[in-house]
Amino acid sequence: MSEKRKPISVHQAVETVMKWKQRGIKNEVNFSECDDGYLFNPIYADHPVPPFDRSPYDGFAIRSQDTEILSSNNSLDFKVIDEIPAGNISNKSVGKNQAAKIMTGGAIPEGADAVIMKELVIEKEDGKFISIKRRLKPGENISFKGEDVKEGTEIVSKGTYINPGVKALLATFGYSKVPLVKKPIIGLIATGSELLNVDEPLKPGKIRNSNSHMVSSQIKRSGGIVNYYGQIGDDLEDLSELIQKALYECDFIITTGGVSVGDYDHLPGVYRSINAQELFNKVAMRPGSVTTVAEREGKLLFGLSGNPSACYVGFELFVRPIIRYWNYSDSPYVRCVKAILNKDFPKANPFTRFVRGELQYNSGRVLIEPIGLDKSNVVSSLAKSDALMILPGGTRGFKQGDMVDALLLEDRKGSEEMWEIRK
Ligand code: AMP
Ligand code: MG
Repeated sequence: MSEKRKPISVHQAVETVMKWKQRGIKNEVNFSECDDGYLFNPIYADHPVPPFDRSPYDGFAIRSQDTEILSSNNSLDFKVIDEIPAGNISNKSVGKNQAAKIMTGGAIPEGADAVIMKELVIEKEDGKFISIKRRLKPGENISFKGEDVKEGTEIVSKGTYINPGVKALLATFGYSKVPLVKKPIIGLIATGSELLNVDEPLKPGKIRNSNSHMVSSQIKRSGGIVNYYGQIGDDLEDLSELIQKALYECDFIITTGGVSVGDYDHLPGVYRSINAQELFNKVAMRPGSVTTVAEREGKLLFGLSGNPSACYVGFELFVRPIIRYWNYSDSPYVRCVKAILNKDFPKANPFTRFVRGELQYNSGRVLIEPIGLDKSNVVSSLAKSDALMILPGGTRGFKQGDMVDALLLEDRKGSEEMWEIRK
């Protein structure tokens, strides 16, 4: 019962999937657990940073007007009236020809409007006086209240990934609880009676399941949570049952294998048996043309190819934007850059190819080189590849020096618009 499948374009396929995009709900977590999350709300500054005028150096706080007449051959002594370590406030006011010793981070005392660095004064009488011989401008060497962040400004937008810098801001503004997006829970099932577990010895006719582990890392890299249901043999009923269970427990389902037209490729039958509607079952691309996506009650079921490279590409093109959008990204699509092909790619192909490549940076130019065998069933080229070259279908091959589009696999920023296939 192998009905003829009608391929749709990659663009159409991605758009079809994105029609079912959804945003996640809020999940408030303790500050110490927010790493690797995405912000559900924007973060506003509820106080200025720094919160008070402070000294950026170890030195002496003085009145700049007292230095107006000073120069390298005209010095003046200032009386040191206080010492202000960071964290302390002085209750004295700095008057004419007076100074307060101040440490980095110390609050500028009343009366003072400039700081002179410790290295530029001569301390006298055991630190009771300092001699200065240079002119300071009002405000010189002061970190002013609010110069870093003004009160009320949005400092981090929603959907932002919590990187070390964002974490510093959350700490600065006292976010002991952080509003994150509840990441999508993605049910993962590998199909294939030939599959062995990682810890099993090889047996004749069998291979170790690599897809589950690869996809599981792809899910995490894109911002999802993996709910792994293990690997299952090619049996329609078992598969159907497991998928229904997973649908109940997860936000999306990813299966690998079983979407071609072979006798044991049961996914199309499973979709029918659980009343899921197939959105498409063939895409005009290589590898991954058999990628099938179905939907049931608003939940997507991604049927990725069992061939490792095809599986990998199918995930990046179709699943990643859905996860990114879920986590409030406004640029959920894979980012595309121009790169110079660094090796001939003579093979012409009627379908658009997504060729695994490695980026190289040479004197400001971005080069890309295809890696390993360009076949959908290879696994060896994936480890090195950090980009997918888009080679449009047609009658010609490609030459070293040609400009090609490359999709960045390790990128977090993404793109607002979907990339295009340019002939
Ligand atoms: P299928 O899509 O089920 O027809 O599988 C296509 C090819 O990919 C076959 O050679 C399978 O043995 C292989 N394959 C299927 N699933 C996996 C997996 N989880 N890990 C590695 N290879 C797989
Ligand atoms: Mg199979």
